[in-house]
Amino acid sequence: MLSENLRNESLEEKSKNFLEEIIEEDIRTGKHAGRVLTRFPPEPNGYLHIGHAKSICLNFGLAQRYGGKTNLRFDDTNPTKEDVEYVDSIKEDVHWLGFDWAGEYYASDYFEQLYEWAIVLIKKGLAYVDDQTQEEIRTTRGTVNQAGKDSPWRNRSVDENVDLFKRMRNGEFKDGEKVLRAKVDMAHPNMLLRDPILYRIIHTEHHRTGDKWCIYPMYDYAHGQSDSIEKITHSICTLEFDVHRPLYDWFIEKLEIFPSHQYEFARLNMTYTMMSKRKLLQLVQEKVVMGWDDPRMPTICGLRRRGYTPEAIRFFTEKVGIAKRDNVIDLSLLEFCLREDLNRRAPRRMAVLNPLKVVITNYPDGQVEQLEAVNNPEDESAGKRLVPFSKELYIEQEDFMENPPKKFFRLAPGQEVRLRYAYFMRCNEVIKDSAGNITELRCTIDPASKGGNSPDGRKVQGTIHWVSAQQAIKTEVRLFDRLFTKANPDDVAEGEDWKSSINPDSLKVIEAYLEPALAEAKSLDKFQFERMGYFSVDYDSKPGKLVFNRTTTLKDTWAKISGQ
Ligand code: ATP
Ligand code: MG
Repeated sequence: MLSENLRNESLEEKSKNFLEEIIEEDIRTGKHAGRVLTRFPPEPNGYLHIGHAKSICLNFGLAQRYGGKTNLRFDDTNPTKEDVEYVDSIKEDVHWLGFDWAGEYYASDYFEQLYEWAIVLIKKGLAYVDDQTQEEIRTTRGTVNQAGKDSPWRNRSVDENVDLFKRMRNGEFKDGEKVLRAKVDMAHPNMLLRDPILYRIIHTEHHRTGDKWCIYPMYDYAHGQSDSIEKITHSICTLEFDVHRPLYDWFIEKLEIFPSHQYEFARLNMTYTMMSKRKLLQLVQEKVVMGWDDPRMPTICGLRRRGYTPEAIRFFTEKVGIAKRDNVIDLSLLEFCLREDLNRRAPRRMAVLNPLKVVITNYPDGQVEQLEAVNNPEDESAGKRLVPFSKELYIEQEDFMENPPKKFFRLAPGQEVRLRYAYFMRCNEVIKDSAGNITELRCTIDPASKGGNSPDGRKVQGTIHWVSAQQAIKTEVRLFDRLFTKANPDDVAEGEDWKSSINPDSLKVIEAYLEPALAEAKSLDKFQFERMGYFSVDYDSKPGKLVFNRTTTLKDTWAKISGQ
């Protein structure tokens, strides 16, 4: 039902979101000559996650819709946390999501211009060098109800400020000894405008500018001006930056530069998902996960490795829409979008995850039949394949019950089921070991039911999947559960760390038996293992030893197949 509703909804003309309305109005009034240029501005201090995917799809999507372009800009103003490893991964992920940027830029390319603009501000009496420590600056900033205190260095002369700022650049001072601050208003109701810091001294090599600089601009000072340098028309960011907007506008106004404008939307939050790069980094460093691309991670590379498609992620971000108020999206919506996509595209295969041996006593020894199986009922062009059938099979343990309850329609002593694409099969005998564990079922098939069709109108209620024991390939399969046990992983008892929400059982490794057609599968190939879910080939696969990740389970699996 949910699926139908969403499909219908996507067919209808959707109402415009507030950004589309703004852009259409700007085009109508001829603002920026109707030009639309957005940017995606990641800080290269970690891998991108599903929240960033939202921002990417939004920025690139808006530009595409209105004949505009999008820049990729690395906001690399903090050398202590940034790295080229992250730059490379970000580019790969944006491409994989299906987007091409117009220009690739780095805030660090603008360091010289930003420096010159700082001199302009100093000369206008709008910036000064402060000798106070970070701590002193923090404590003299005041509170929401109380004005801050002017720095004793606030009224230095322009010449002294220019001289000191140049010497800061030349490396004459140690980290933290001096900062450059804007001279705005220490009593401003918006705390961010109480003489914000523009530059601090950090004697650290930058991954692009090396040791050329030892002063680095703050985010607020660098971001708007970078937008302005690129002549960005619509600078879209998340809601928490709305209080920064007056400062963004202040710099642009005082410097008299291209008037980029900032618009805010609600960030994506999702249940059972951690979106903080800092905390994701901790999971990697503390080896809670295999790496940034662990299939349990909400990172784009993690989702890719797990078997997500770019289409599913784009569909998801579209469904989520954009809001002006913070909200939390259910993780199941992401999985729903994935199933919608994979259901259309993923070839079907049979795989047994928890094997139970079946011997068909009325089937000739050594005979192997090749039975036709449909590759994808949703896509006729996917064609058919042959699946071997023989005397010994594996079926799923959970498809057999020795003492079944009333409505158990799968296999049980004396009960008949349909083997998918094969035959009707009846269980006649249960073999156990000395400890009483079931080791084998002895069954017979009805040869007249070949292909799974009833020979005489008699019905079987259940259809189960199987593999032929001799031809089956044995593989490792990784089953995942949510990485966190709490819908909001940060919602922990007092004194407890967010890490106490980590699910200790989020990974289960098993050995499974797969039909032989899967032997040729390549890294990231995706399949639906009938009734068991969607699976994707992991990078850890080696020739002759495949590893599959379960991307997601199937919803309502049983209902679907038993209607055959
Ligand atoms: P950091 O804590 O490192 O600043 P960040 O998640 O803000 O982390 P950025 O690299 O600064 O990371 O983000 C790049 C862009 O992605 C920004 O425009 C940011 O607003 C956007 N973004 C980040 N997280 C989300 C999210 N959860 N939903 C939507 N957009 C996001
Ligand atoms: Mg950020």
